[in-house]
Amino acid sequence: MSKFSSYNFNKQKALIRVDFNVPLNDKNEITDDSRMKAAVPTIIKILNDGGSVILMSHLGRPKGGPEEKYSLKHLLPHLQELLNEGSAISQKKTVNILFANDCIGDQAYLTADMLRPGEVLLLENLRFYKEEEKGDTKFAEKLSRLGDVWVNDAFGTAHRAHASTAIIAKFFPAEKRLFGWLMEREVASAEKVLHHSEKPFVAIIGGAKVSDKILIIENLLERATDIIIGGGMAYTFMKAEGGMIGNSLCETDRIQTALDILKKAENMGVSIHLPSDSIIADKFAADAETSSAPSDNIPEGWMGLDIGPNACEQFCNVILHSKTILWNGPMGVFEMHNFQHGTKVVAKAVVDATQKGAFSLVGGGDSVAAVNQFGFADKVSYVSTGGGAMLEYFEGKVLPGIAAVNS
Ligand code: AMP
Repeated sequence: MSKFSSYNFNKQKALIRVDFNVPLNDKNEITDDSRMKAAVPTIIKILNDGGSVILMSHLGRPKGGPEEKYSLKHLLPHLQELLNEGSAISQKKTVNILFANDCIGDQAYLTADMLRPGEVLLLENLRFYKEEEKGDTKFAEKLSRLGDVWVNDAFGTAHRAHASTAIIAKFFPAEKRLFGWLMEREVASAEKVLHHSEKPFVAIIGGAKVSDKILIIENLLERATDIIIGGGMAYTFMKAEGGMIGNSLCETDRIQTALDILKKAENMGVSIHLPSDSIIADKFAADAETSSAPSDNIPEGWMGLDIGPNACEQFCNVILHSKTILWNGPMGVFEMHNFQHGTKVVAKAVVDATQKGAFSLVGGGDSVAAVNQFGFADKVSYVSTGGGAMLEYFEGKVLPGIAAVNS
């Protein structure tokens, strides 16, 4: 049993760092509640144990002081719904949620102090204080006074050494610093792929820029058997190999890096798969004229915006023969209808491979958006809630939010 599962929170006040940084529309309505939903089991377990919960999070990018549009109070009605649903399964009662309009100070301390078992206190946005992102020790100490035990369940911010995500740890003894269930699942899934992968292991890397993905590719060369490279970044590799790529995205200053990666992969026996053909367009627009062409022979004035039919088959073949799959980044400009086919086909192959027994992890903002958009999120083994954090984990970095709990 994990440390969190076996911990008895009875009569304890658990201070949980959650990642409630959800997108809001103009009417302050939540447009994607995945991150909130993902934290519910952790909260309910503590309440069921007879503990109380103090939730702290950031929301958006305030400039260091209170801003109405970034107030966490906008999340209260939906949090109420989610916790009522979550608790109904086991307790059949509504959860009492209080709100403190400052994350530190008298009102927060008093409310936290009076909190009864089974109750929840949501604190106002941590980033209304500049000290949060600066990782200020005094601010972290002030936050730490709110709870008896610190639970870090915010994988989305685990790559930041902020006051509430990492610095706060030193104010709790080792036995009172825990990961919540979301964080445990994130870490276990990432560890399974990085260190306990069943082979063949394919990493599917897409997106716009080689420069953003160099470190992850380099780290994965040590672990994967196959690396599929799609999206805009594939054309820098095509160009590096002497191909004609027309107006496709190209980072000329990364051509040597692409060549180094290809050479390294060859020496290490890792197969790199580049898209043999592309869907090309005469402009970067949803209503562009389209055609297909070999990815290394794209006519002048045209650009590759998606992988082509042969590449789809080529990539699916690799994916369907794999036992471990990591996917980060779309295969094309999937936001535009004409260029989403490749990403959809790859998503479907990941789902099929999962059904055949492969372990599949999807992470990184745009690939997560893609599997959500296509309705495949519950058909892969795990969808990570952390974009940047997930990327840094797979680059082989130690994440401060994880190190803080483990140290
Ligand atoms: P990233 O955030 O690096 O994973 O990149 C995701 C973005 O890459 C998405 O907005 C895609 O539209 C974009 N993208 C994917 N393929 C291409 C392409 N062939 N040309 C230009 N942009 C692309």
